[in-house]
Formats: sequence, structure tokens, C-alpha cells
Amino acid sequence: MMIIMHTDATPAQVQLVIERVEACGLKAHLSQGAERTVIGLLGNVRAVTPEQFEYLPGIDRVVPISRPYKIASREFIPENSVFPIDGQSMGGNEILIFAGPCAVESRTKLLEIAHAVREAGAHALRGGAFKPRTSPYAFQGMGEEGLQILAEARQVTGLPVITEVMAPEQVCLVAEYADILQIGARNMQNFALLHAAGESQHPVLLKRGMSATIEEMLMASEYILSHGNKRVILCERGIRTFETATRNTTDINAIPVLKSQTHLPVILDPSHSTGHWQYVTPIARAAIAAGADGLIVEVHQNPEEALSDGGQSLKPERFAELVRQVKLIAEAMGRRVAPVRAEQAAAQGQA
Ligand code: PEP
Ligand code: MN
Repeated sequence: MMIIMHTDATPAQVQLVIERVEACGLKAHLSQGAERTVIGLLGNVRAVTPEQFEYLPGIDRVVPISRPYKIASREFIPENSVFPIDGQSMGGNEILIFAGPCAVESRTKLLEIAHAVREAGAHALRGGAFKPRTSPYAFQGMGEEGLQILAEARQVTGLPVITEVMAPEQVCLVAEYADILQIGARNMQNFALLHAAGESQHPVLLKRGMSATIEEMLMASEYILSHGNKRVILCERGIRTFETATRNTTDINAIPVLKSQTHLPVILDPSHSTGHWQYVTPIARAAIAAGADGLIVEVHQNPEEALSDGGQSLKPERFAELVRQVKLIAEAMGRRVAPVRAEQAAAQGQA
């Protein structure tokens, strides 16, 4: 249920409504948009009726939220959520591209690839330090040393860093080094982790579980949102189907479905959703055409020797071509790929 205030409602009237909501044992979630102030009722809303609030001064109307997720829903917040990531804007008209290796493998290799993806037009550097591998015998990532290398790459390239956090007790450590926390597909319903990420101030990239429905993904995002973190980016990364020609099946449908049901930014990972580098660029193009707000792409200087996910990693020159093509698709959609810092500086120089 949500309470929509009159446009001329006073702060005191808003406060009174919040107090009444809390007196009923519910949580009040205040959302002050440009157009309207909305108070969302969170908790066991079945215990209350609209009539309990309708008579309060300043209220325009009380309406039910039909979806099980509340803060994530477009019913509750109709405008797109747009938020800054290191000075760049996520969720608006501009498209952001995150790129880098599946895993941080060494300082030398990471610094080299960080420069390469920046030159090719990436807006953030990805790289796993803690890797969720199917086999316990496979490379598990460099851990904190990997985080330190990512931080150094950020310092020398200026690119913000996105990396995976696998456990609630790792959130503080990863947040010390990273700009964006990634929650991987295998952890989409790790509720303790979602809770901890919700208490962090860092933007969170939430990947769809490989067998999760869109509604389950939105419910997972609700865990983060309901613990106070508004900066959630949803990432479609392919789902399990009967098809074996690709590692996963890209659910392109999920992009317009998510965009219609939630105000949160939605991006696609064409690397994990296809599992083969040859299909990454075509599916990246499709994602932007379908309305995605960004991409996260695996790039490696020498994919044949990568310690994880080499077969789906693009070489830097192929990634540069992906960016070139995605720019054309974005333009056709009336959007644009966000300028990178060098382009911004050049544009300011011309102005
Ligand atoms: C990754 O980004 O390297 C990764 C492990 O992704 P996912 O959680 O989508 O499998
Ligand atoms: Mn990977």
C-alpha cells in the first residue's frame, strides 16, 4: 500500500502520516519525487486498511501496490532511478559500459587490461578478486591482494572499479577498495549478503540467478532497497534452458520486462549469457536495442591463457569494436554511450 500526498502537503502533514504508519507496526518508506511525495507502507500491510489513513490531512489517496516487491516497483516510484557512479550517471539517457577480465590474475596483467579497456571506451573496470567457481579445485581468485591491485588500477586509469563480494562479512573489506559491489548469480538469493549490501553506501550490481524468475530477482533487489541502499543496478546474465549451444540463454525479454516493472537501471552481461566471445558483440547490440542502460563485458589480453572464462572474453581490439557498434545502436535508440573522461575534457576544451 502507498499513500500519495497532495502536492501542497506540508512537512508536518507528511510527518504525521509517517508516525501513524509506524504506530501500526509498519515501516514507512518516504519517496520525495519532483512531482509527488509518496509514503510506502512496508511490512504486514494486510493488518491495516486504507480507511485508517485516508482521513489524515494532506493525503491525496491511498492505493495498493499490486506487486510483492514494493520499493523496486514502478507503481511506487514511476521515474527512472538515476544515480552517480564516480561522476558518471547510471540509469539516465546515457549508457555505461563496464569491462575487464573475469578475474584479477596478476598486477601486470590487470594494469595492462585496465589501460586497454579505458582506451577502448569503458566507463568502469571489472575484475573478480573473490571468484565463485563451480569446482573447488579451480582458481578461486587472488582475494584481498586482487582488491589492492584493482585499487591501484583505479588510481592509474581513473576508472571506477566493480568487483564481486561473496559473503556478508566481506562487504566492508570489498567496499574499502571497490566503487561498485557485484553480487553474483550464485548469490542472488543469499539473503544475509543482500542485507549487508543494503546497509552499504556503495552501488550494488545484482546479477540474476541462473534459475531465478524476474520476480525473484526483483524480490532480491527489494532486500537491498529495504535496508536503505537505493543504488541497485539489475543485471541480466543469462538463464539455464534446454539449449546447449551457448553457456546460458540470454533472456532479452527480461530487459523490457524489467524496465516496465521497475525504475532501477538494467544492464546486460553478454559474456556469461552466451559463453562464447563470437556471440558477445551481437548480443550486446541486441541488449541496447532492447533498452538496456549498460553492459558488463569480459575482456582479456590473451583469452587462451585466462584463468577463468577465457572462451567468452573479448580481446581489447574486439571490445573496441563492440563499443563502436553499441554507440551506433544507442544513437538509433535516441540515447548515447556516456562520453569517457578524455572525450568530456575534449568537449569542454572546445566549448
Ligand atoms: C562474473 O561476473 O565473473 C560471474 C561469476 O558472473 P555470474 O555471477 O553472472 O556467473
Ligand atoms: Mn566470469
